[in-house]
Amino acid sequence: MDKIQMTTPLVEMDGDEMTRILWSMIKEELLLPFVDLKTEYYDLGLEHRNETNDQVTADSANATKKYGVAVKCATITPNAARMDEYHLKEMWKSPNGTIRAMLDGTVFRAPIIVKGIEPCVRNWKKPITIARHAYGDVYKAVEIKVPGAGTAELVYTAEDGSKTSEVIHDFTGAGIIQGQHNVNASIESFARSCFTYALDVKQDLWFATKDTISKKYDHTFKDIFQEIFDAEYKEAFEQAGITYFYTLIDDAVARVMKSEGGYIWACKNYDGDVMSDMISSAFGSLAMMTSVLVSPDGYYEYEAAHGTVQRHYYKHLNGEETSTNSVATIFAWSGALRKRGELDENSALMEFADKLEKACIQTIEEGRMTKDLALITSIENPTVLNSQEFIRAIRSSLEAAL
Ligand code: NAP
Ligand code: MG
Repeated sequence: MDKIQMTTPLVEMDGDEMTRILWSMIKEELLLPFVDLKTEYYDLGLEHRNETNDQVTADSANATKKYGVAVKCATITPNAARMDEYHLKEMWKSPNGTIRAMLDGTVFRAPIIVKGIEPCVRNWKKPITIARHAYGDVYKAVEIKVPGAGTAELVYTAEDGSKTSEVIHDFTGAGIIQGQHNVNASIESFARSCFTYALDVKQDLWFATKDTISKKYDHTFKDIFQEIFDAEYKEAFEQAGITYFYTLIDDAVARVMKSEGGYIWACKNYDGDVMSDMISSAFGSLAMMTSVLVSPDGYYEYEAAHGTVQRHYYKHLNGEETSTNSVATIFAWSGALRKRGELDENSALMEFADKLEKACIQTIEEGRMTKDLALITSIENPTVLNSQEFIRAIRSSLEAAL
């Protein structure tokens, strides 16, 4: 078989620990034999980030702006323990945070659905994708513990010195106050990323806030989404046969539970934090969750939602067998290859991405899976494979499909 040709490189961001091991196995077994893989390689492994004073992370984000599509391996976010372990010059920031800030993007997380790994919510038949706004609100709030009686005020001082103020509360005893903010530019980017992604995957977009109670703060989110939708996306949504649906957050939660899935749920920062954990655990496993960062300018970075699976890596280093699930990382590659194919009008590459995903799903549905899935599957007597055997099993399904 001739290898599938690529015209434009993908930005490849390598990472750390067990996922770095899986990364090279995936390339070796599932990509290089079939695709004339073109990538611009950036090593975001912690050692190399440290050597380059984290310049490599910024370089990889800039390359994503140049080429449009990146695929990223999970990476360590340093903490005190990692400072010693890797002899770090500094406690480098989270690469995901750096890349997100540079691309100004929104992260979309979607579960990978297979028969035999059933969601806890019986009526969920299709994936529910969570889009979480990644700036502001309670995450950038300032707070004061009010010690006793007194007046708390919200004050805005304009550049010319003029003031606007509101009394928050006349305290008669001790209490607490909090000041939150957001900025229109960030809400606008969030809205555009959501509308762009909905068109991309041809799914309805839901958005919800508490605008009936928060008549200025949350209402601004609602208004910005509606204005941008009407001005820039309405026609395209009609043509694609999808809808934009706004409701109150409590109504949204009730509808989500009763729905069959198959839409994108855009959430304010806090709602997204809470709801994405609910959705991912209800769908079964973090190892079956994909994640894509979409910038309002249409740049895409694909990755797995889980981390570097540190515990498995130490077993691997000790020469013990591991059974680490590579599906989300494989789907990061297939997502990036499909998007690359779409942008380059390379249908062979897009078909390959589809077949690679089908091979993963088929392998699991036939009862061959890693330990994390074997523990939760409804399939009887599953065959538990180690990390490498699982990837090889996917390869044989893929070869049959090609
Ligand atoms: P983790 O890597 O997601 O793993 C937590 C646990 O979840 C694992 O110990 C394992 O459970 C299970 N698990 C996760 N992915 C799995 C997979 N593919 N197959 C099988 N089991 C899987 O989170 P962590 O151990 O808390 O974090 C490790 C490192 O990852 C940290 O340094 C953190 O900074 C980094 N991290 C990176 C990203 C990212 O790059 N996007 C995201 C999150 C965390 P058992 O041990 O019970 O088998
Ligand atoms: Mg959380």
